[in-house]
Amino acid sequence: MIKTDNLNKSFRTAEVETLALSNVNLSIKKGEFVAIMGPSGCGKSTLLNIIGLLDKPSNGKFQFIESEVSTYSEKQRTLLRKMNIGFVFQSFNLIDELSVFENVELPLVYQKISAKERKKKVEAVLKRVQLDHRYKHYPQQLSGGQQQRVAIARAVVANPNLILADEPTGNLDSANGKEVMDLLSQLNQEGTTIVMVTHSISDADRADRIIQLFDGHLVSENHKKKVTIVKQNSEVL
Ligand code: ADP
Ligand code: MG
Repeated sequence: MIKTDNLNKSFRTAEVETLALSNVNLSIKKGEFVAIMGPSGCGKSTLLNIIGLLDKPSNGKFQFIESEVSTYSEKQRTLLRKMNIGFVFQSFNLIDELSVFENVELPLVYQKISAKERKKKVEAVLKRVQLDHRYKHYPQQLSGGQQQRVAIARAVVANPNLILADEPTGNLDSANGKEVMDLLSQLNQEGTTIVMVTHSISDADRADRIIQLFDGHLVSENHKKKVTIVKQNSEVL
């Protein structure tokens, strides 16, 4: 699903240039659950943003579902992103002025799906995250764990091939964190590829593979267990 070849990313500010990623070579197969770990500032979010087509590498190659996307225009990347990727962030990033239902509905609105179809899909996914009794609530009326489950519902409502999660349990207590991780594990079991940045060893333990970054370099890849992909509607790429 994802292949990088000597990926580099540098950020230039007024006086300094920071090399955030240095010659990163990484392949991720369809159906895999990959955790990215490493100290603060080592390039984890930068890597996730590039994988998520939110940012471009400075140089190197980056393939996403067999397309070479480093040369894509902003518009092409946006389209590819909206069709394929769901995001989950540490701070939930829900829109406070919108109800649970309206937040989850947003990706479908962007995809110009009819209101009737949207209602069906949103109700199904809210049931899936066990929040169907909360669809009229607003984010501030929910616990942190519930808010993150709404964010996951929003990330998966349009059936993405890939979920990218940046420290999804970082703002949650352990009980809520476990609920969120159970949900991500289930989605992976059902065939969704997941790439997750985490500082938590127990969260990383859910993944098939742990990737360590240090100072922009990929320093180790730990294949924990063989990935068995017997998942519906998915083929191994
Ligand atoms: P992590 O997520 O592992 O904490 P980041 O990927 O956010 O690390 O950042 C990696 C490095 O790149 C850090 O040194 C950070 O300061 C720098 N960096 C990240 N984003 C920007 C940016 N937009 N402009 C300048 N420097 C950045
Ligand atoms: Mg980060």
